[in-house]
Amino acid sequence: MPPSSGCLICRAPIEYLAEPEEMECIFCREKSRSSYRCTKGHYVCDRCYRMGAEDLIEYTTTRSTSDNPFIIAEPLLEAPVIRLHGPEHHFLVPAVLIAALYNHTRQQDRKERCIRAARRRADLVKGGFCGMMGDCGAALGTGIFVSVIAGATPMSQEEWRLSNLVTGRTLEEIALYGGPRCCKRNTFLALRSAVRFLEKEMHIRLPMPETIRCRFGARSQDCVREKCPFYTGS
Ligand SMILES: [Zn+2]
Ligand SMILES: [Zn+2]
Repeated sequence: MPPSSGCLICRAPIEYLAEPEEMECIFCREKSRSSYRCTKGHYVCDRCYRMGAEDLIEYTTTRSTSDNPFIIAEPLLEAPVIRLHGPEHHFLVPAVLIAALYNHTRQQDRKERCIRAARRRADLVKGGFCGMMGDCGAALGTGIFVSVIAGATPMSQEEWRLSNLVTGRTLEEIALYGGPRCCKRNTFLALRSAVRFLEKEMHIRLPMPETIRCRFGARSQDCVREKCPFYTGS
């Protein structure tokens, strides 16, 4: 089913081909034959096109192959079903990080199990936590990530220390930029903080871009523009 107005990812026009070709869905990476795609080559399969936010995050991260969390997050952040701001980011952050880590270590089973666990936990982190509880859900997402991969429980020792420490570090970085809330800025800050934490505290090195550029500024009425470290003017 082609999108009615432009590409879901980049908004480029949709082109129709005389003969169907094999294409890979940008979300689930499954290949199927299709007679449409955007002029920049993006294709979204019918199943992903119909999914809700949490299903799309679980499906995409489970089938991802990159160990760079920013690359895995990119199409998800652009997906129309994932709003500019919304509690779906609370699951997106740990899901993307778990996927990157277990793509890095090539542990597909563990990846799937941990993403499902993160989804159940992130569901408890409701919208508006940042302002109402003083706990940004993206920062909590990094705590969920470390808790799930380390197998922490309230009775753990080292795992407990790591899970709380990553939330603390991420939350402080997010807090220092001030409000109003921006789920895109805070997702970028959370992913960057978690990658740095993994390297420093757990000696696992995942790739990330040297420069993080946000493409959502023009779409967000609340964007703090030049005050945001990722603002690009677009
Ligand atoms: Zn496109
Ligand atoms: Zn798909």
